[in-house]
Amino acid sequence: MRDQGRNPISNGVHPVLLLTGYAAVALAPLGLAYAEGLPPRGFRDEFSSALALVAFAMLLMEFVLSGRFRVVSSRIGIDLTMRFHQLIARSLMGFILIHPFLYTTPINPALPWDASRQLTLGLSATSFATGTIGWVLLGVLIVLGIGRDQLPYRYETWRVLHGFGAAAIAIAGAHHAIDAGRYSSQPTIAAFWLFLVGIALLTLLVVYVITPLRQLRHPYRVISVEKAALKTWTVVIEPLRGQAIRFEAGQFVWLTLDRTPFAITEHPFSISSCPAERSRLGFTIKQAGDFTNTIGELGIGSRAYVDGPHGNVTLPGRDIPGVVLIAGGVGVAPIMSILREFRVQRDLRPLILIYGNRLAEQILYRSELDDMARVLRLDLHLVLSEPPPTWDGSVGRLDKPVLTKLLDIEANDGWLYIVCGPAPMIDSVEDILEELGVPMHRIVSEKFSYD
Ligand SMILES: Cc1cc2nc3c(=O)[nH]c(=O)nc-3n(C[C@H](O)[C@H](O)[C@H](O)COP(=O)(O)OP(=O)(O)OC[C@H]3O[C@@H](n4cnc5c(N)ncnc54)[C@H](O)[C@@H]3O)c2cc1C
Repeated sequence: MRDQGRNPISNGVHPVLLLTGYAAVALAPLGLAYAEGLPPRGFRDEFSSALALVAFAMLLMEFVLSGRFRVVSSRIGIDLTMRFHQLIARSLMGFILIHPFLYTTPINPALPWDASRQLTLGLSATSFATGTIGWVLLGVLIVLGIGRDQLPYRYETWRVLHGFGAAAIAIAGAHHAIDAGRYSSQPTIAAFWLFLVGIALLTLLVVYVITPLRQLRHPYRVISVEKAALKTWTVVIEPLRGQAIRFEAGQFVWLTLDRTPFAITEHPFSISSCPAERSRLGFTIKQAGDFTNTIGELGIGSRAYVDGPHGNVTLPGRDIPGVVLIAGGVGVAPIMSILREFRVQRDLRPLILIYGNRLAEQILYRSELDDMARVLRLDLHLVLSEPPPTWDGSVGRLDKPVLTKLLDIEANDGWLYIVCGPAPMIDSVEDILEELGVPMHRIVSEKFSYD
């Protein structure tokens, strides 16, 4: 199992360096094409080639962005990495879809004044076929990605189709580029494409073969499954041998339960136990679909595998006098890990927890939270949108009136704001915090879904 140093946010590459490296690889084919010194064609032809060169490099880098490599996502977070992946996918789709329609240069035969056919598109039947396959598949893949949640098949099916569909596009695209591309057929640029395609396919090998093999060598077993609140369970696993993975409070893993890691039925869950308890890992899992609805039936002793830790909703490496924690529903899971670690470490920095639910029966770990409010410097605010008549806590959603009432932003100057829960709640809370004057760099969040 891959292990991780004690400070996740300093393990990743700095975002500026990441962006610079990304831009350098995306623009490299343009530089290489310019260096070839071929006679220039009209603007539309050169523009079309330039779009395709940049878009193909971006497409091949998509594999690295979505491969869950900590060196990429540790600092910026998986959320942002995946959003970047999606944004780039949409842009490159635009580039590649218009690419064939921009050309004005004739396809075979050679022009009389161009005996060496440098100004002619050399498009054989096979490169026409691979170009068309890649072009159509790319559109299909991206449209299916955007509409993923509306599709009638399972997330896992979508994920495998997405990965292997992308590999088919990479191979078809490389063939088309090297066979038909005026610049890409030059040996240096062809070698560049083969190198990037190799890296892209390697990332699939890492995700689908090497990581599961590593997980297989470090199995866990389920030691308890307990109901924690309405439709929510606490699952605890322990390694069959040795210690559990090292992680920081607030991080998450991809968890495989009762299946081989090759089955690709893993799901992301935050670790709700604390790092000090190295002998086991605890998760708080809410029923939300086909897999999570079966958690209550999970047998004690079932095998479990983890890939991680991932995520940057962590405290080490940040110089902060206090923390405001805002959780919606099961979003309290990573926050429990942070609070539990504070308790073990006897950390007496001030904390404010604003924890919102719809119903009282959904509140997780109520008595433990009350205990923590006694032993830590924790200001605990439970908020319900549909409270029972006897409720004496706050009432409402985690909206502007509630947050304005519960937070004194000026008094908490320099504090970190951690927000966890469903995507719509995070987006709205982040907007409100910014409106209330919290600088963006003081807010870190973990969405429990990808857009
Ligand atoms: C970083 C992160 C941390 C999370 N932590 C927790 C937690 O501590 N507790 C908790 O209850 N939930 C957590 N979730 C949400 C949890 O992963 C989903 O509820 C669960 O995967 C749903 O699976 P399902 O098959 O039951 O539901 P489905 O109906 O199959 O899926 C519902 C939606 O969940 C998402 N999803 C499903 N499978 C995956 C997957 N393998 N990878 C990514 N997204 C997927 C998809 O958007 C899907 O549309 C977290 C999610 C993320 C991204």
